[in-house]
Amino acid sequence: MSEIKKYDVLVLGGGPGGYTAAFRAADLGLAVCLVEKEERLGGVCLNVGCIPSKTLLHAAAVIEEAAAAAEFGVDFAAPQVDLERLRAKKNAVIGQLTAGLDGLCLARKITRLTGKGAFKDRSTLVVSGAVGEQEVQFVNAIIATGSRPFVLTNIPDDPRIWDSTAALQLTTVPKRLLIIGGGIIGLEMAQIYSALGSQITIVEMLEQIIPPADKDLIQPLFLKLKKQYTILTKTKVTEVRPTADCVEVKLEGANVPEGGQFDAVLVAVGRRPNTADMGFEGMGLQLTDRGFLQVNERQETNIPHIYGIGDVVGEPMLAHKATHQGKVAAEVIAGHKAAFAPMTIPSVAYTNPEVAWMGLTEKEAKAKNIEFDKGKFPWGASGRALSAGAQTGVTKVLFDKESGRIIGAGICGANAGELIHEAVLALEMGANAEDISRTVHAHPTLAETFAFAAEIVDGSITDVLPPKQK
Ligand code: FAD
Ligand code: NAD
Repeated sequence: MSEIKKYDVLVLGGGPGGYTAAFRAADLGLAVCLVEKEERLGGVCLNVGCIPSKTLLHAAAVIEEAAAAAEFGVDFAAPQVDLERLRAKKNAVIGQLTAGLDGLCLARKITRLTGKGAFKDRSTLVVSGAVGEQEVQFVNAIIATGSRPFVLTNIPDDPRIWDSTAALQLTTVPKRLLIIGGGIIGLEMAQIYSALGSQITIVEMLEQIIPPADKDLIQPLFLKLKKQYTILTKTKVTEVRPTADCVEVKLEGANVPEGGQFDAVLVAVGRRPNTADMGFEGMGLQLTDRGFLQVNERQETNIPHIYGIGDVVGEPMLAHKATHQGKVAAEVIAGHKAAFAPMTIPSVAYTNPEVAWMGLTEKEAKAKNIEFDKGKFPWGASGRALSAGAQTGVTKVLFDKESGRIIGAGICGANAGELIHEAVLALEMGANAEDISRTVHAHPTLAETFAFAAEIVDGSITDVLPPKQK
């Protein structure tokens, strides 16, 4: 066992949270050691999450768009999909991004160790890797160990039963794919495999797909998908039995169809934090009731020089939350007055159409007894949406009745994931309906729909009839 120098900052986990924290700490002049058990940096997001899924979703969108072009009198032949080339493209994107991280790490003179880290005590980490065991001494540590798929106990092991990582391998396109969980992973994977030719069945135990979003917001997506997939809400899977020919599944719910035979099953029912076997208990690190690492706004755990960021500290489990928290932890360690206190963290489902929301949803505002004014602009009245075949979309904005300021927004439609950021900035800046209405938006754009929704509340809308004066 060899001993190495004492680092200002030890970062455990090289995902978006971990590498961002390491880079920021190094840029602030601190000596940094980054420990990652996989050969490649980037964590779930770059390797088996955001990036591979978005690459495959792009291919799926191209397939769908080519088919939809018929409406404009443009006919394409049915696509020929070469799975090997599609996989290679996805892997090339991952390779390019992770190689970029290697370069950025090297340029910042960060010590990088490949191996599984476990804390020996409050200032020592033991790294077990191909070169044996190494001890790392640190003054501060940032834990960024992320999360893994939640495993349902009644589901057996079988190569036809997938988690999101297996689904992203794209080994085969099953004829009949059952997706358990109508959350973001379930719907994004459905989009990919449906475009590639699978018949999709989605089973969601709650009463709507993407349960955190408002029902009216996801309606344009739901109405489109229910023509393509079988969507069973308020439904449970009671048995999954792999046989020689298929996977037999028993379902329990209101409208369960006959059959229950599938060629593959994707389980996408949420994720759990990685907190086991890393010496957390021995150090006395506190976890929340739900098993996440407990931190405050400065990302400090109950042990002041040990910090936690990203998926391991709780929901939302999103890459952009992890990176921002990573910067805060590094800045706090460097002595800056930093805190993670955003007014909102936007959510985006990269489905077709996309769904994006930020701030309070309508149901959250109601639950909190916050009175609000709502502006909802149907994209059927947007010239740009009509000319792009995106007329089913909707933009909704909520304003606090008392202060007049924006408190929430949701968009369902093409590019919703890009458009939502105007609302995020408006919320951070404390904008009201008049501020947004009088901000000149270029015509014809989908971004105009955000201003139009505000104009409905402001009373200045001309593109649709104004709401009746009370
Ligand atoms: P992770 O990315 O999980 O990284 C943790 C790292 O720590 C891993 O590399 C792991 O190997 C390492 N590690 C763990 N334990 C140890 C140990 N003991 N020693 C050494 N290393 C260790 N989020 C979005 O914002 N947008 C999206 O579009 C999106 N798409 C997604 C699609 C899928 C299919 C999935 C599964 C997730 C998606 N997410 C998305 C979520 C996003 O990937 C995570 O929120 C993000 O990766 C969290 O970053 P993190 O740094 O906290 O953890
Ligand atoms: P999720 O929590 O978003 O959705 C899981 C869904 O499964 C929920 O709707 C839940 O009601 C349902 N469910 C749970 N148990 C079930 C059961 N036994 N039977 C049927 N349905 C059941 O989780 P996810 O989709 O697995 O995603 C995991 C995490 O990854 C999330 O935190 C998500 O934010 C993140 N992610 C984000 C993106 C993105 O930002 N575009 C993409 C993928 C994943």
